[in-house]
Amino acid sequence: MSIAKPTPTPVPLTEPFWAAARRGELLLQRCRKCGHHQHYPRVLCTRCWHREHEWVPSSGRGRVWTFTVVHRPGHPAWDTEVPYVLAIVELDEGPRLLTNVIGIEPAEVAVDLRVTARFAEDEDAPLVQFEPAVS
Ligand SMILES: [Zn+2]
Repeated sequence: MSIAKPTPTPVPLTEPFWAAARRGELLLQRCRKCGHHQHYPRVLCTRCWHREHEWVPSSGRGRVWTFTVVHRPGHPAWDTEVPYVLAIVELDEGPRLLTNVIGIEPAEVAVDLRVTARFAEDEDAPLVQFEPAVS
């Protein structure tokens, strides 16, 4: 018997992100005053505290900032997926995302590995993941 993975619960602040994710598009908030990109979505700009943002597409390109290889997941729904790579990826636009690196053996993942975004094909949980960039 498999256990269902918990799914995101969009709220008005995050709904534009999840709607885009369901289309396979990675959006970031960009401050209308200072141009700062941020993720996760927030009410205030983390640089200048301005309240008005726009949603803009990310390049989807970045680098592994740090990572770990998970052998004992914190939730039983991931029991069948170990080992997997849990990483923080720094996008070229600046924000860092907690994500997975896929499409590569965990032992081959390294800090500064160039990666590109893709979305899990799951209508309920279209989570952004990253795979090694093809240069
Ligand atoms: Zn700002």
